[in-house]
Amino acid sequence: MDFRIPDELQMLRLSARRFVNEELLPLEPEYANQPDIPDDLRTRLQARARELGFWAFDLPESVGGGGVGVLGMCLVMEELSRCNVPSFRAPTVFTPYLGPVLFHCEGEQREKYLMPIIRGEKRTCFALTEPGGGSDPSGMTTTARVTPGGFRLNGRKIFITGADKAHFVQVFARTLDRGEDLGISCFLVERGTPGFSLGQAFELMSPDRPWELVFDDVDIPREQCVGRIGQGWELAREFLDMGRLIHGPKAVGRAQRALEMAAEHAKSRSTFGSPLAERQAIQWMLADSAVELHAARLMTYHAAWKADQGQSYHVEASAVKLYADEMLVRVIDRALQIHGGLGLSRELPLELMFRDARSRTITEGSSEMQRLILARDVLAHPERVDRFAP
Ligand SMILES: Cc1cc2nc3c(=O)[nH]c(=O)nc-3n(C[C@H](O)[C@H](O)[C@H](O)COP(=O)(O)OP(=O)(O)OC[C@H]3O[C@@H](n4cnc5c(N)ncnc54)[C@H](O)[C@@H]3O)c2cc1C
Repeated sequence: MDFRIPDELQMLRLSARRFVNEELLPLEPEYANQPDIPDDLRTRLQARARELGFWAFDLPESVGGGGVGVLGMCLVMEELSRCNVPSFRAPTVFTPYLGPVLFHCEGEQREKYLMPIIRGEKRTCFALTEPGGGSDPSGMTTTARVTPGGFRLNGRKIFITGADKAHFVQVFARTLDRGEDLGISCFLVERGTPGFSLGQAFELMSPDRPWELVFDDVDIPREQCVGRIGQGWELAREFLDMGRLIHGPKAVGRAQRALEMAAEHAKSRSTFGSPLAERQAIQWMLADSAVELHAARLMTYHAAWKADQGQSYHVEASAVKLYADEMLVRVIDRALQIHGGLGLSRELPLELMFRDARSRTITEGSSEMQRLILARDVLAHPERVDRFAP
């Protein structure tokens, strides 16, 4: 067992840290509470990231990416997540962050949808959740009826991140052919298609602003179905597995920053004649946070390593998401406590980080859904001692 991170990935991580310190942290005061950064700033940062060789660093070399793999991507993501500049919640300055679905594009679909995203010319979003519930997609009511030319979509999606800027949407719908249910499929619906519109924006406790999407007799041609008819749930699961794994480095990077802030404050703030850092009550908070952060980091790197080996990481991704997101809430909560009233004030980013962290145990599958996946695995194989091992 070798726990060392390869030298080239360490270098990548250090370059990402420099980029974050020099280019991004200075932007934090202005943009941290916004749902996104302005387009011209994004373009400028993307150009800088390209100059430094970061653009699409995580994507396969076969599509023009840097091919650093999932572990490399996690290391960079961890660094980016130290920063509260909003597009780094969905770090589209470094990489298209497209998710695995579009890699199922074939023939002309690749040039029309996949490659413009990889080049950074277009943006997309992932639309699965419906008003009837996000945890249970089997109750999906958005339909795609087979027509002579393709499909006719009807329904609504809610809480869709980045829908306002997306050139096309990856939308999941129950496919029906003259009353026969062919299962859930994935469709690419372009902005401006008649019948497709943005509904309300959701204002949340975190700075995110996801959107409602409305499909009202939206006709699309056959070529806008990705993968096979009925393969949609498989594609969504691929997307969610990777999305859940990425919650790991995002939580770890953010928690690392909160821990550093807590330690610095504990050393510099004195009460009753000595620094907080000398009080056991405070030391225990720091120690607990450090241990939990370490556990989340190891779980993340291990799941990323499995993904890089081409092994299934479905159960590991759930464990990472569950543990790392709940760890983040606890670590930021302790950091807030150590800062006293200052921790609650808008002068520091901790209150924003706390609001943001709280939303993560719900998005991309709630903690309860991750526990459900893990419990199923335990119940099916209670005897396994190597549950998360290769
Ligand atoms: C900021 C943000 C961004 C988002 N972005 C996207 C996006 O880009 N694309 C997208 O498709 N969706 C997106 N979502 C939706 C998100 O994935 C869902 O909110 C999430 O899956 C939970 O679904 P729900 O809100 O419908 O809650 P529900 O499914 O209604 O669940 C409500 C509560 O009940 C619990 N629960 C449900 N079933 C069970 C059970 N069997 N046992 C125990 N507890 C249960 C859940 O854990 C949850 O706590 C986003 C949400 C947010 C907040």
